[in-house]
Amino acid sequence: MLVVMKHGATQADVDAVVRTIEEMGYEARPMPGAQRTAVGLVGNDGRVESSRIEGLPGVAQVIHVTQPYKQVSREWKPENTIVSIAPGVNVGGDEVVVMAGPCSVESEEQIVETARIVRAAGAVCLRGGAFKPRSSPYSFQGLGKEGLKMLAVARRETGLAVITEAMDEEGADLIAEYGDCIQIGARNMQNYSLLKFVSRLGKPVLLKRGPAATINELLLSAEYILAGGNPDVILCERGVRTFDTAVRNMFDLTAIPVVQGLSHLPIVADPSHGTGVRDMVIPMARAAVAAGASGVLVEVHPNPERALSDGAQSLYPDQFAQLVSELRPIASAIGRTVASAPAYHGTVAAVAG
Ligand code: PEP
Ligand code: MN
Repeated sequence: MLVVMKHGATQADVDAVVRTIEEMGYEARPMPGAQRTAVGLVGNDGRVESSRIEGLPGVAQVIHVTQPYKQVSREWKPENTIVSIAPGVNVGGDEVVVMAGPCSVESEEQIVETARIVRAAGAVCLRGGAFKPRSSPYSFQGLGKEGLKMLAVARRETGLAVITEAMDEEGADLIAEYGDCIQIGARNMQNYSLLKFVSRLGKPVLLKRGPAATINELLLSAEYILAGGNPDVILCERGVRTFDTAVRNMFDLTAIPVVQGLSHLPIVADPSHGTGVRDMVIPMARAAVAAGASGVLVEVHPNPERALSDGAQSLYPDQFAQLVSELRPIASAIGRTVASAPAYHGTVAAVAG
């Protein structure tokens, strides 16, 4: 429930609303706005009897949030949320953010080389996994903490913001130290204890849709993170499992406008896992930007044949450069631009020259 205060409501009026909500056994979240203050009521699992609050001085309106997710919903917050991953790297505004990198961090040389390649082509974030959720226990599991250190080197070399996946609390703590944004992978979308944990780390979270999760479940998972006190959540559509085996997953483009209607959180698209097939990635990335995604997350490898994971869906460097150049006119056709990486005076200048 959201209590919207009148324009001229005093601090004492707001305090009285907060007190009343607390007396009723719920939590109050005052949200001062440019025009007027609202007070959110959280902690309810169903409709709250609001007559006591409606009668308080300074109250303009009480809005009952009809969705099961509250703070994630557009009813709660009509304007888009912009999540800042790093200084100058904002997801959810007019700019389309390109996030790219290998599925797995394999060596320092590989991740630094990939970071240079994707930055030169127009990526703003480096995405690579150090902790890998693999279907088989015999597949490459990632380099763990050593991989995070390599990502930190790549960030130092290129200035790119680093997004990487946490599979457990220990990994999440390490990523909070070494990275800029914590990815919660599809398999962990409903790992509620991990969601609660990352809500307390003070780092933006990129939350992927589970392979068989409904949009309602995705938004409820995001609610766990907001309810825990972290408003910086980026949602990610990465394809769902269906009856069709022609591609790895069925990339649900519809999720982009559906989520944007229901929630103020930004949604980005991962056409790499969404299709699983290199040659499908470019058309689906173009389509995702046309559909209004706030960004794309694309797997790129300097040598996909030798990739330790997801080589078949990883773009070659020249394909990635082509993709970014194709995204620019598509973004511009819908009044947006592709974000440029903030200037960085590290060793990237030497690479570019
Ligand atoms: C990944 O991003 O490399 C990954 C494992 O993705 P997902 O969680 O979407 O399967
Ligand atoms: Mn992958």
